[in-house]
Amino acid sequence: MSMKELIEVSNRYGRDCEYVLAGGGNTSWKTDEFMYVKGSGTELATIDEEGFVKVDLKKLDKIWTAEYSEDEDLREEEVLSDLMASRFPSKKEKRPSVETLLHALLPYKFVVHTHPALVNGITCSEKGEQSVLELFGDSCIWIPVTNPGYILAKEVKDAIEKHMRGGKNFPLLIFLQNHGVFVSGNSIKDIDELYDSLFSKIKSKVNRFPQSENQSVAKEKTSSVIESIGKVFGSGQIVLPFSNSDIEAFSLSYESFSPLVLSFTPDHIVYYGFKPVYAENIDSIEQALFDYREENGVEPRLAVVSGAGAYAFGSVQSKVDKAKALFLDDVKIAVYVESFGGYQFMPEDKIDFIRNWEVEKYRASVGE
Ligand SMILES: [Zn+2]
Repeated sequence: MSMKELIEVSNRYGRDCEYVLAGGGNTSWKTDEFMYVKGSGTELATIDEEGFVKVDLKKLDKIWTAEYSEDEDLREEEVLSDLMASRFPSKKEKRPSVETLLHALLPYKFVVHTHPALVNGITCSEKGEQSVLELFGDSCIWIPVTNPGYILAKEVKDAIEKHMRGGKNFPLLIFLQNHGVFVSGNSIKDIDELYDSLFSKIKSKVNRFPQSENQSVAKEKTSSVIESIGKVFGSGQIVLPFSNSDIEAFSLSYESFSPLVLSFTPDHIVYYGFKPVYAENIDSIEQALFDYREENGVEPRLAVVSGAGAYAFGSVQSKVDKAKALFLDDVKIAVYVESFGGYQFMPEDKIDFIRNWEVEKYRASVGE
């Protein structure tokens, strides 16, 4: 029964783009001995029993008392190997989610972790911590932006212990700065009710909502930008132009584009690159694309041209679709943060960590 519930809740939240996009988010169901957690590179929208990895909670718990290397890369390797060793034998060699350790910390039957634009409107804002504490009080904890994996789980573990030492109940909501939210409950009904109240409370504080309705861009403009993209990266590129009134407003000038120049969350880095290319007019987009590759050593996957909309591009259709979806999400976040003191990007060292982290490269590669 519980496996069925886990699949149902995962598919339902996974298909709703208000909560989860592409391969983001993950879910789990646990008993006292074991936990089923989403496998890395699996998508919640379509996950079935095969997509989950069964881990032994007692083995997993040993990670907290193990001694790991001081070196960041080595430590991540060692933790990953202990994580893999905590799996029950199965035919398929699947990796448990990057966030497995964090799921295991929460003493509830179900955990549904998502990255909603609405919630990230708070977690990526200047007044994020203050706002969630005002709205959710002792039922939540706030975790400052942290490198993912072992370090994040350790931060959460410490924060929960501190919260409990103050005589408070176990937090049901865990807000991760520049990332998303963990919601826990002993039934799916509890989870749904928590999400409902989470959404309605945040919405009650939002002064301006995103305008996500598609808006078309004049053909002569799009063909000229597509031509420039082709000149720089080859004519085989799949290019997807799109726009809406928020994109139009943000792209007016360098200044108005400032809430979109860097990454809000790891999903944005993984699925559309750590920042978009911006050009103030069609004539300068070709040079801007060259400069981006030159400066960053990677090819961009998304460009925005003032007055001519946004362009997701690349050589693989599914990746281009995801880049578009994640940029649209980014634009929504950029609107929501206005209600919470303005935008706050991930710090550059944290962005670099994600860009170089083997685990995220794995996630991006298997998600294709
Ligand atoms: Zn996450």
